[in-house]
Amino acid sequence: MLTLQDVAVTYANGVAALAPTSLSIPKGRFLVLLGPSGAGKSTLLRCMNGLVRPVQGEVIAGGRGSIFRSHKTLREHRRRTGMIFQQHHLIGRLSALQNVLMGRIAEHNALRSMLPLPRTDRLIALQALERVGLLDRALHRADQLSGGQQQRVGIARAMAQRPEIILADEPVASLDPVAGERVLADLHRICREDGITAIVSLHQVDLARRFADRIIGLSSGRIIFDGSPAQLGASM
Ligand code: ADP
Ligand code: ADP
Repeated sequence: MLTLQDVAVTYANGVAALAPTSLSIPKGRFLVLLGPSGAGKSTLLRCMNGLVRPVQGEVIAGGRGSIFRSHKTLREHRRRTGMIFQQHHLIGRLSALQNVLMGRIAEHNALRSMLPLPRTDRLIALQALERVGLLDRALHRADQLSGGQQQRVGIARAMAQRPEIILADEPVASLDPVAGERVLADLHRICREDGITAIVSLHQVDLARRFADRIIGLSSGRIIFDGSPAQLGASM
């Protein structure tokens, strides 16, 4: 459903961050991009939602053609794509619930977001918090939650957007192993239940093995491995 055809990225400073790369990700997969810092994981993820424009190649979403065809196609693709970051980008002084409601605003169009959100949006946001086990923290300020809880609010916010695709850039890099595992377990379960395609970058091999359907190994802007966790085990 998401296809990269010969996508290459060179940044304005001349850094060739991604060599021509082709990749097809069927709907509903949980794909892990595995590689050390600087391997090109963020660059690849940012191409997938159009935050970075490749110098060549196409990013094709389902039957809709290139995401870069027009401002409209790019905007629609981004609306269907939820983002989760290493630094959760929550607004600290707002409650967990208010932060998740931001995901509902993203779902509506810009004009609509100037109006008060309907009640159903509050319900959707509360349901999203419940699914990450944080209903009892809904009214807590985001900056008073633990790192793992904040990241799970980030997941709830992305889910409240009702995305088809989730892109998660090192979502557990700043967490301790126990909190990190919980975050990935929640993300994995929700994506599975809702049939959401997930592309998650990690640098921990053990976590990639545990959660991925398919692992893409990246090094110096190139794919050096593409296969199942079992195949990764055999090749190492
Ligand atoms: P990773 O996510 O695996 O750490 P990145 O995609 O962030 O890798 O980086 C790939 C390469 O591109 C690195 O050499 C990095 O320094 C470079 N890079 C990343 N972002 C930019 C940018 N905005 N401008 C210039 N170079 C960048
Ligand atoms: P299943 O129906 O059990 O998901 P698949 O035949 O779809 O099995 O996939 C088998 C394995 O091949 C998966 O574990 C995944 O890692 C890998 N895989 C799935 N889709 C692709 C693809 N488009 N390109 C390369 N490898 C893939």
